[in-house]
Amino acid sequence: MSATNALPTLIDPFGRRIDYLRVSITDRCDLRCTYCLPKGFKGYEEPAHWLRPPELLRLLGLFVRSGVAKVRLTGGEPLLRGGLTGLVRGIAALPGLRDLSLSSNGTQLARLAAELRDAGLQRLNISLDTLDRRCFARITGRDALDSVLSGLQAAQAVGFNPIKLNMVVQPGVNLDEVESVLAFAMTHGHVLRLIEPMPMGSTGQAVAAPDLSALGQRLAQQHGLLPCVMGQGSGPARYWAGPDGRASLGVITPMSQHFCAACNRVRLGVDGTLYLCLGQNDRVPLGPMLRAGASDAELLQALHAGIAAKPERHVFQEQPQHVMRFMAQTGG
Ligand code: SAM
Repeated sequence: MSATNALPTLIDPFGRRIDYLRVSITDRCDLRCTYCLPKGFKGYEEPAHWLRPPELLRLLGLFVRSGVAKVRLTGGEPLLRGGLTGLVRGIAALPGLRDLSLSSNGTQLARLAAELRDAGLQRLNISLDTLDRRCFARITGRDALDSVLSGLQAAQAVGFNPIKLNMVVQPGVNLDEVESVLAFAMTHGHVLRLIEPMPMGSTGQAVAAPDLSALGQRLAQQHGLLPCVMGQGSGPARYWAGPDGRASLGVITPMSQHFCAACNRVRLGVDGTLYLCLGQNDRVPLGPMLRAGASDAELLQALHAGIAAKPERHVFQEQPQHVMRFMAQTGG
C-alpha cells in the first residue's frame, strides 16, 4: 500500500534519507544481559508515561506519511508489552509501511510467534549470545536458554525466515563460542550477526569491544562464504553468503568501523522521546508534546527540526562516556 496524504520526507543535513524507525514499546526486560541492563534494574519510565497504542499509532502514522517505510519494535523486551498483537496489527495496517520487524530475546516466542505472524509481523531478530546453558545464565542472569531455543523453533515453524540471530561478542565471555553459534545458525538456516558491544550506559562501558571485521573475514573464508548484500542493503551489517546465495554470517562493527555515513534511522523511546542518534544525546520530546495536546502540524514541525539537527556520527570511540543511557532505554 502506498502512503496516503504523503508529507515531506525526512532528509538530514548530510543528505541521509531517514526511512527507518526503531520503536521501544517497553523499557522492561526479563533478562539482565551484563552489557545492557544493570542488576536490580526496574525500568526507567513510569508505565503511565509509556505511549498507549492509539498514541503510538498516531505518531507512527506521521512518520510513515513522512517516508518512513520500515519500523522495528524493540525495547526492553517487546514481547513483555501487553496488547502487543493488537499493536502489531495496527502498525502493519499503516498505508505506506513496507517492513515491520521486531527484536526479541526469544523467551516468550514459543507462546507468541504464531499470533504475531498472523497479525502482520514480517521479520524477527533474536538475541543469542551463546549455546552454552551456563554461559547464557552468566550473561543474562537467567537459566533461560531452553525457552529461547523453543521460541526460535516456534518462530521458524510459523514461517519467519530467515531469522537473524544477534550475538554480542565479548572477549573472555563468549568469543570462543562464535564458531558453535555459527554452525548452529548455518544448520538451521538462520543468519548470525556478530555485534561489537557499544559503550552505552555504565554496563556497556564496562565491556571491551573486540574488532569483529577480521573475525568475520576469517570465519567466512573458513566456511567458503562470499560477501553479499542482504535485503535492500543500507543496514549496518556486512554479510557473507554460502553457494546458494543465502546470507549466513554478518558483522556489525560500530566501534572498529562505523557506518554512520549510511545511517537511515532514528529511534523512539517508550515515552515517545525521539532519539536522533544511538551514540549521542540529541532528542525531541514528541511523546510529551503529544500528551500536552500538540497538533499533527506541531508534531511534524518538531520532527523536522529534530532531523535537521541529526548528528553526523556517534563518538563512541572518542568519548566512550558520552552516552549514559542504557541500550534498552533508547530501543536497541
Ligand atoms: N530484548 C530485545 C532483544 O534481545 O533483541 C530487544 C532489545 S535489546 C536492547 C536489542 C539488542 O541490543 C540485543 O541484540 C542486545 O544484545 C543488544 N545490545 C544491548 N546492549 C548493547 C550494547 N551495549 N552494545 C551492543 N549491543 C547491545
